[in-house]
Amino acid sequence: MGFDANRYPPQLMTHDRQGHRVDWVEFHPAYHRLMQTSVEHGLHASPWRNPQPGAHVTRAAKYFLQTQVEAAHGCPITMTFAALPALRHQPNLLESWGDKITAPYYDPRNVPDFEKQGVTLGMAMTEKQGGSDVRLNTTRAYPIDQGGPGEAFELVGHKWFVSAPMCDAFLVLAQAPGGLSCFYCRAGGPTAARIRSTSSN
Ligand SMILES: Cc1cc2nc3c(=O)[nH]c(=O)nc-3n(C[C@H](O)[C@H](O)[C@H](O)COP(=O)(O)OP(=O)(O)OC[C@H]3O[C@@H](n4cnc5c(N)ncnc54)[C@H](O)[C@@H]3O)c2cc1C
Repeated sequence: MGFDANRYPPQLMTHDRQGHRVDWVEFHPAYHRLMQTSVEHGLHASPWRNPQPGAHVTRAAKYFLQTQVEAAHGCPITMTFAALPALRHQPNLLESWGDKITAPYYDPRNVPDFEKQGVTLGMAMTEKQGGSDVRLNTTRAYPIDQGGPGEAFELVGHKWFVSAPMCDAFLVLAQAPGGLSCFYCRAGGPTAARIRSTSSN
């Protein structure tokens, strides 16, 4: 599976045959089987879903083995894993999405997140001028109503190096009133929700 997933690289399909914009990334079936195996074994979330002594060690050991078979699918698996502690800072978002993010189901279909039992998360942090120093990000967040943590924002800007665009949602960094902040952005969704920051920003 690891060899096949790399022998046949992903293809970006921008339009369907009727000319509708789809922005679909097509992977070899072996890649999806690797993703399914990782998610079913909880590499994306098991210590968050079943916290218990040794849970992180168990997950790390499985991850160590699995990524020797194929490393690239570890990217969305790791980002999904890493997103949950950030979401904990915004309890309403965690309540809405925590179950689906930690669920042991992988669903590669290009359908809305509410039609899926499990979702994967990507990240859109980097910009051309803002890699290590994300404070240089210029993407802006405009409050739609009153603003503030958990509220809806419109994000306007340009991201660079979003390496798992087939995820169901993304943590996106943008400059909000008050400084750089993190947003939960559903793929295809109209708006992004702000996550409460732990620093003064
Ligand atoms: C395989 C891959 C996948 C990625 N996927 C994603 C993704 O999905 N989403 C996303 O948002 N980003 C993604 N990135 C982008 C990644 O997060 C950035 O490349 C990273 O943050 C570094 O930024 P940069 O490339 O602009 O390098 P720079 O920040 O310009 O760094 C260039 C060099 O300067 C050094 N440097 C930088 N700052 C300092 C400092 N203060 N002191 C000393 N040295 C310093 C660095 O070590 C490096 O050697 C991905 C990158 C890779 C390689």
